[in-house]
Amino acid sequence: MEMLQNYINGELLPPASGAYLDNPEPATGKVYSSIPDSDQRDLDAAIKAAQKALPQWRDMPLEERAQWLLKLADAVAEASETLARAEAIDNGKPIAFARTVDSYRAAANLRFFANACTQFSSESHSMGNEAINYTLRDPIGVVATISPWNLPLYLFTWKIAPALAAGNTVIAKPSEITPMTAYLFAKLCQEIEFPAGVINILHGRGPSIGQAIVEHPAIKAISFTGGTATGKHLAATAAPMFKKLSLELGGKNPTLVFADCDFETTLDNVVRAAFANQGQICLCGSRIYIERPIYDRFKKAFVERVKAMQLGDPLEESTQLGALVSKAHMEKVLGYIDLAKQEGGNILCGGNRHQLSGRCADGYFVEPTVIENLPLNCRTNQEEIFGPICTLQPFDTDAEALSFANGTEYGLATSVWSQNINRCHQLAKQLDFGIVWINTWLMRDLRTPFGGMKASGVGREGGLEALRFFTEPKNVCIKY
Ligand code: NAD
Repeated sequence: MEMLQNYINGELLPPASGAYLDNPEPATGKVYSSIPDSDQRDLDAAIKAAQKALPQWRDMPLEERAQWLLKLADAVAEASETLARAEAIDNGKPIAFARTVDSYRAAANLRFFANACTQFSSESHSMGNEAINYTLRDPIGVVATISPWNLPLYLFTWKIAPALAAGNTVIAKPSEITPMTAYLFAKLCQEIEFPAGVINILHGRGPSIGQAIVEHPAIKAISFTGGTATGKHLAATAAPMFKKLSLELGGKNPTLVFADCDFETTLDNVVRAAFANQGQICLCGSRIYIERPIYDRFKKAFVERVKAMQLGDPLEESTQLGALVSKAHMEKVLGYIDLAKQEGGNILCGGNRHQLSGRCADGYFVEPTVIENLPLNCRTNQEEIFGPICTLQPFDTDAEALSFANGTEYGLATSVWSQNINRCHQLAKQLDFGIVWINTWLMRDLRTPFGGMKASGVGREGGLEALRFFTEPKNVCIKY
């Protein structure tokens, strides 16, 4: 059984405590590796290394820093099959998805920010003949990134890449639920002899090592992706210390299907939006509102598609839906199905834990579940479930669709399906979401601002927004 290690100052090290946590494989329910239960001593060592490495990394010529990130991107791309397989085992997601989404994006994130930092520039403001202002954007120093389990290496690299590109040194904490690809990433850093101490990776539990990272006075900025409740707690700790915070939190995303949509394209994408990664993407569309004239036809076709989805061993190429990430999460999701029934929901398909045979007999599989007949304000339609569950509901007017869509505390992402472009523009303006997709879902241009409104977060990632977050602006005003 593999014992994972922390990555501090370029070395793979056991935790100071000597204590490890079990890491089960979701598709089998069996523990297959263990991870360091890190504490303050590991953090202090990592901070020391990051502080020591900072001057050289910060002051390195930009082109050279970009070359290091490109080298990392190449190493990740070369290892992409190994990483995809590791992600499928560690998270329970289908290998085909891990290959095309997780592994692919991990390399793309590093490459994107390697290039972006060479294009990053700061502003100047002329005051006519009187004076000129220019803005310096220097790296912040030692920063932290904390990432979740749903897209492990994808989100881990999405955070460290801009932090490093902007010239900071990093303490990164992957989720304790899916630690494996961050560990393999540390090995790649060693293989290419990435400068020691520039990136340090600490494994362990959120409330212990995660909390210690957030509280540490040497860490000046924290980029966090995870649940809204954790984000709230983190902000309460970090805000009085005046740390810079970027919070990418939960969602309860609506999908609006109009009668004039391109039916087949919409159907394909609405199924994908609801169930990709077993519904465990913060952007998944789990509340599906359908214009009444096509409600019955769309519902029938949608349920047929969902029933035909292949639920199975994540390591099989044909699998479309794998296991949920943990036993606890599976139980939470099944609990929401019970709640939906109590709230009067009609289960159109799914609704149960799924039993596979052989290797995966004890895995955490849940059938893709479609529910109708629930009002907007019930808990099933208000709370983030983060599993393979969606609800269907008809609407009659654009105004009603808009009020349904905006009617939760969240505001991360939405998609609108209609051929009436004027309506789409009007809705896009009025939808309270950080991301509005029109006739598409999960189409990403890494230059665009990414993040949520309301309880879905504070701040934006992506492109120059992320480089701005990881730098401290300083205005210099010169009188002529
Ligand atoms: P989580 O909040 O439980 O954990 C996220 C990370 O925070 C983990 O690394 C965890 O160890 C750490 N953590 C937990 N408690 C901590 C503490 N007290 N101090 C510091 N760190 C702590 O979230 P999760 O269950 O891993 O991920 C699922 C959630 O993430 C969902 O709500 C999902 O919507 C959200 N998410 C959001 C986005 C986005 O871009 N907005 C993307 C992916 C996932």
